[in-house]
Amino acid sequence: MAEHTDARGDETTDDRPALTDGDEDDDDDEEQWMEEDGQQLPVSCLFCHRWLSSVPATIQHCSSEHHLDLADVIRTHNLDDYGYIKMINFIRSTRCDPSLLMAPGAPLPWGGDDFLRPVLPDDPLLQTDPEEICGGEGSPPSARQVSGSNDALLQRAEAAEERARRAEEALARALEDLSKLKVLVQDLVLNASPGPAPRGCVAALRDDEDEAYFSSYGHYSIHEEMLKDDVRTRSYRDFMYGNPDVFRDKVVLDVGCGTGILSMFAARSGARKVLAVDQSEIIYQAMDIVRSNGLEDTITLIKGRIEDIRLPVEKVDVIVSEWMGYFLLFESMLDSVLFARDTYLSDGGSVYPDLCSISLAAVGDRQKHQDRIAFWDDVYGFNMSCMKKAVVPEALVEVVTADKLISEPTVVQTMDCSRVRPSELDFTSDFSLKMTHTTDCTAIVGYFDVSFDSGCSNKVTFSTGPQGPRTHWKQTLFLLETPLPVCAGEELQGKIAVRKNRKDPRSLLVTLELRDRKLTYGLQ
Ligand code: SAH
Repeated sequence: MAEHTDARGDETTDDRPALTDGDEDDDDDEEQWMEEDGQQLPVSCLFCHRWLSSVPATIQHCSSEHHLDLADVIRTHNLDDYGYIKMINFIRSTRCDPSLLMAPGAPLPWGGDDFLRPVLPDDPLLQTDPEEICGGEGSPPSARQVSGSNDALLQRAEAAEERARRAEEALARALEDLSKLKVLVQDLVLNASPGPAPRGCVAALRDDEDEAYFSSYGHYSIHEEMLKDDVRTRSYRDFMYGNPDVFRDKVVLDVGCGTGILSMFAARSGARKVLAVDQSEIIYQAMDIVRSNGLEDTITLIKGRIEDIRLPVEKVDVIVSEWMGYFLLFESMLDSVLFARDTYLSDGGSVYPDLCSISLAAVGDRQKHQDRIAFWDDVYGFNMSCMKKAVVPEALVEVVTADKLISEPTVVQTMDCSRVRPSELDFTSDFSLKMTHTTDCTAIVGYFDVSFDSGCSNKVTFSTGPQGPRTHWKQTLFLLETPLPVCAGEELQGKIAVRKNRKDPRSLLVTLELRDRKLTYGLQ
């Protein structure tokens, strides 16, 4: 009985209550008390003038107000359907005292068939199965119950059918979207360059996604550092001043002009027009700098991403840019230079610098390994070696001196900026490092070399390797978790995969395989 008495069982009223909307509750048990139209009929109390909102409410009311447990009466007298119906009609017609119903002995006062006739029309208590009142578990359902359950089942089946129909529609829409996406992807792959840029490429980054990158170039300090990198800046100057034929009367595009230094070199080298583009705020300084040096008639400064702006000319003769990041490809700015090349460079035009290479060498530096990796084994007497899993995969940008090299360097990738396709900037390469020392290899170092080559009578090259003077790019160090013993003369075989991090296309993922070891490093 309690099973059927929910919070609503306490609601009683002296007025005949309004019909309760059965939709309010789809509880299984409750559904068995529903009328065909899904609404509950109010029930007149067996012993007083009150109307209750439902059969369970009535049973609860009889129990609390009249101290009669209907289930007890049914069980005490072992009433079947007919006995129960007769009892209800007996109570309604005689208005007897509840205590009479529990009185022992036979015959029962409602034994006569006269009590089969309903006293109240549509009496919900007569529609109720006595088994249900007693808790009903394990007893076979009565015909009335089956019919009530069938209705409820029908409603639920209809609702399920409706849900299935909606799910089918959603699935059809998803499949349609998927096939549209497939066509789009095929289109992007087939028309890779210079068509719309796919995700995972900097050209596809939204302004807000790339904001941090450009604001890092807004502050003077980074430009000061670059300008003071004598290897870098002098190489550009020597190339431009040393090859005036490349620039004389030419239209030059400076992709990412920063303070305007390369544009001014180009102007001084005889360029007819220089278009200097930069998205970062530093361009406002460049405007003053260009004016201060009386070059405003030659140099036009344009603020914006090269991918977004429209140049005031159809084509340019020369593109210059200082786009190189750590390990050459970090920042992925080369993508933007290739975009400019494919969009604006005239036939026969040139991109500088043009030749680039990435090299690796083995490093034996136990002190550094101790400082950065073994350190975690014992930190003030505590074992923190689990930290190595976080420390090792972060590539370091540090100066590596030539005395720490234990192998000859090897070039793992070369590219010619006048030809390379954007898709080739992710690459995999097998390599072999010829060991010059018998020792422990503790790391692999990476760096790049750059040349101003094609069409130059005075070629210029510079290196960011450990053997040369230091540059602001330093070197990129990939530490090994545990040192690898190597012998002089040995060829250490390896494989490197370099790819953009799809989640952040300006950062790089570098996977190194050495003997049986394989680790992916992040450069960010
Ligand atoms: N050419 C200058 C600055 C080089 S740093 C020099 O040699 O000193 C690279 C510059 O390129 C930054 O100022 C950065 O804001 C700009 N840059 C990078 N990607 C760009 C893009 N897609 N469009 C416009 N400017 C870009």
